[in-house]
Amino acid sequence: MSMILRFIFTVIVLYLIFRVLKRILRSAEKKKNEPLSNACSRTIQGGDLVQDPCCLTYIPEGEAYKASIGGEILYFCSEACFKKYQMERKEKS
Ligand SMILES: [Zn+2]
Repeated sequence: MSMILRFIFTVIVLYLIFRVLKRILRSAEKKKNEPLSNACSRTIQGGDLVQDPCCLTYIPEGEAYKASIGGEILYFCSEACFKKYQMERKEKS
């Protein structure tokens, strides 16, 4: 009888350890791939800043999405903003 009890106790302890380990692993993973903040509000990391004419965010030139519109080079935070800007331009003209 005591053998069975000891066995059950061991299983419970192992289960609890397993659960704790799983939780630790999950929280470590969360830290690794932190959710990317909105593409339009990226953190600024040095370099020459350029302004996105669509959402008015400042982005480092190296990270910007470059596009020339009407012979003018414009910088966007993302391709989505570039497309939006293009659409708005078309609507205006
Ligand atoms: Zn933008």
